[in-house]
Amino acid sequence: MSGPAADGRDTPRPESTGDGTRVVRAGLPEPVKYEPTLPGPVFAAHFHLPGEPTGPYTYGRDENPTWTHLERALGELEAPGQEDVETLAFASGMAAISSVLFSLLRSGDTVVLPGDGYQVFPLVRAQLEAYGIEVRTAPTAGDAQLDALEGARLLWIESPSNPGLDVCDIRRLVEAAHARGALVAVDNTLATPLGQRPLELGADFSVASGTKQLTGHGDVLLGYVSGRTGEAMTAVRRWRKIVGAIPGPMEAWLAHRSIATLHLRVERQSATALAVAEALRACPEVSGLRYPGLPGDPSYQVASRQMRRYGCVVSFTLPTRARAERFLAELRLVDDATSFGGVRSTAERRGRWGGDAVPEGFIRLSVGAEDPEDLVADVLRALKESAR
Ligand SMILES: *Cc1c(COP(=O)(O)O)cnc(C)c1O
Repeated sequence: MSGPAADGRDTPRPESTGDGTRVVRAGLPEPVKYEPTLPGPVFAAHFHLPGEPTGPYTYGRDENPTWTHLERALGELEAPGQEDVETLAFASGMAAISSVLFSLLRSGDTVVLPGDGYQVFPLVRAQLEAYGIEVRTAPTAGDAQLDALEGARLLWIESPSNPGLDVCDIRRLVEAAHARGALVAVDNTLATPLGQRPLELGADFSVASGTKQLTGHGDVLLGYVSGRTGEAMTAVRRWRKIVGAIPGPMEAWLAHRSIATLHLRVERQSATALAVAEALRACPEVSGLRYPGLPGDPSYQVASRQMRRYGCVVSFTLPTRARAERFLAELRLVDDATSFGGVRSTAERRGRWGGDAVPEGFIRLSVGAEDPEDLVADVLRALKESAR
């Protein structure tokens, strides 16, 4: 992925291709007797540096060995076997997203954003416009962004979208964007690299928040950008250095440690999410049920062509705001909390934030790693109790 390690040794590249095998070994350095398998976090603002500053580790805002291991791991997951892909870790998903947008776009450029993307996008839009960048938006569903591409420099895709869970045909959008000379970034937060690999679908960047299912314990903020080595990634790297949007070594190490269980968590959580969606499908008070992995879902056909797993988020609408609030209060195994992807299930009434175009009774449920029977029973019981 990122070539020779800083210490001059090449990372052993696993022959195996299974996701479970890949995640437990991703990014590990070659074994050294008496050294830990995953070296601990390196806390350093500066490094010994006599003479010419030629090595990688000079100052802690530029490079850190703990990031190197994590970045190599993420690269192996986003683009297995592709040597020309580079990955950069950031302090948060928004730091990663902003680094791509603000390092690549200039005054007079046009960018196409999803109209139904992550809730911070309206703020991002205002900032882009303040810098003289034209922002167009179109919905994720139906590949509607296709019609907004003329003259654009960058297309931003979020698929599945959060929280609406619409899916677009990434390959089709990439082809159309590239034909018009536009770059394409895909927000891969919800899918994780075990759910979909945007670079293999032709995208120039896979960008994600590692805060969600990637690290999966609700205790770390992190982000990353993967892209083919070249001018654009050099610009993103320079942006990280200028803005200083860097992860702490402890967060980077926690993230790397957490990735070892990504396959276990993703398999469990997506299987349970499907079970929950199937149970909710039978409930008359539930409308607008969405899960990209549920046969019959509007996203299912496209999702099943480009995704390998469908994520842990299920969304649906209850008849009223009051009913949704009672439902959340009745849940015993599901915390009322924002964010998603953690081992403990969470749910929230999305409308409480404003911003997303969702009904008052709209619930975003993030399915954790609990026993599927327990979780389904808790959700159905809370639904029943909340009818009173
Ligand atoms: C949470 C999220 C982000 C932002 O990530 P942070 O780590 O909170 O900065 C971006 N995109 C999507 C789809 C998200 O869910």
